[in-house]
Amino acid sequence: MSVWVFSEEVNGLPSGGSLELVSKARTLGEVAVFYVGSGSAAAWEALGNHGASSVHHLDTGDVLPSGPAAAAMADLVSDATAVMFGIGNTDRDVAGRLAARLGRPVVSNGLDVSIDGSVTVASEILGGTLGVTTEVTADSPAIVITRPKAFVAEPNGGATPTVSPVAMADSGRASTALVQEKHVEESEGPALGDADVIVSGGRGLGSADGFEMMNELAGLLGAAVGGTRAVVDAGWVPYSYQVGQTGKTVKPSVYIACGISGAMQHIVGMKGASTIIAINKDPDAPIFALSDLGVVGDVHKVVPQLIAGLKART
Ligand SMILES: Cc1cc2nc3c(=O)[nH]c(=O)nc-3n(C[C@H](O)[C@H](O)[C@H](O)COP(=O)(O)OP(=O)(O)OC[C@H]3O[C@@H](n4cnc5c(N)ncnc54)[C@H](O)[C@@H]3O)c2cc1C
Repeated sequence: MSVWVFSEEVNGLPSGGSLELVSKARTLGEVAVFYVGSGSAAAWEALGNHGASSVHHLDTGDVLPSGPAAAAMADLVSDATAVMFGIGNTDRDVAGRLAARLGRPVVSNGLDVSIDGSVTVASEILGGTLGVTTEVTADSPAIVITRPKAFVAEPNGGATPTVSPVAMADSGRASTALVQEKHVEESEGPALGDADVIVSGGRGLGSADGFEMMNELAGLLGAAVGGTRAVVDAGWVPYSYQVGQTGKTVKPSVYIACGISGAMQHIVGMKGASTIIAINKDPDAPIFALSDLGVVGDVHKVVPQLIAGLKART
């Protein structure tokens, strides 16, 4: 049984999300990766080290990759049981195009995938309040998009995979779209999606100025700063800070929620944190229901004391 994983190159290496998928896919069957990017020995090693047996490498150069990637994949994956994608923009674009080419459905937002005769995908709806199991009864391959952090990227010491170059397939006008520029958002400290500790602010901070103490606290803890959609919509922080259903899914060791009510759309993005600490002046705030440690108090009093306490230790 072969399971394919789509992997887009990011900074010269397979995306972190695709390594999560490869780690899961190796528990389902033999893993073939469709890799889009310039490719390198380090990239092949990383994919092999997470369980890929073979890599099919397409370098689209300056051409927007989705069209050619979907066209090439359609010719390759006909014998696969499942094709797995992450939730990145290119992933979703390729998944949709592949589905249209093969005449197969796409099951999205997967949190788990199993193969037992047919492919079954576990997901959640209504802001994570209801679990859903979807069995794909269409002809294979099943096309599945999974949520970030649904699986853990775990090296298994696998050997370097076989690498086969893939020729650019004709995808009509889609092949004429060129990438003109790429913008990498600059940020200090650890990236939100990978951070081990996250300090996150909500509307309870009162204004954009409240994020100054979030940044200071994060600096002392080596943490990343996140926020709710309410503070993003208010323009206090950029969208890249947003944690939740329509933002990032995070799984840090520690998540410190400051002035955050705990709306279900926020919780679905951070409930996987190992330890949740909440600071909220409302003792009935829903966030306390899933917190390991709750502080009922004003963030403008509690957080400065926390900062002072941490500074006193250094
Ligand atoms: C389709 C959809 C998608 C959404 N996606 C997301 C998403 O991805 N992420 C997300 O976060 N939200 C999302 N939302 C919005 C979500 O429903 C909530 O509106 C939002 O999470 C609330 O943000 P908040 O906790 O900052 O604000 P509020 O709900 O207003 O809570 C503020 C909290 O701060 C506390 N507080 C006030 N002052 C203080 C103080 N001085 N000290 C301590 N505590 C104080 C209050 O008691 C309150 O609990 C989505 C909504 C919809 C409909």
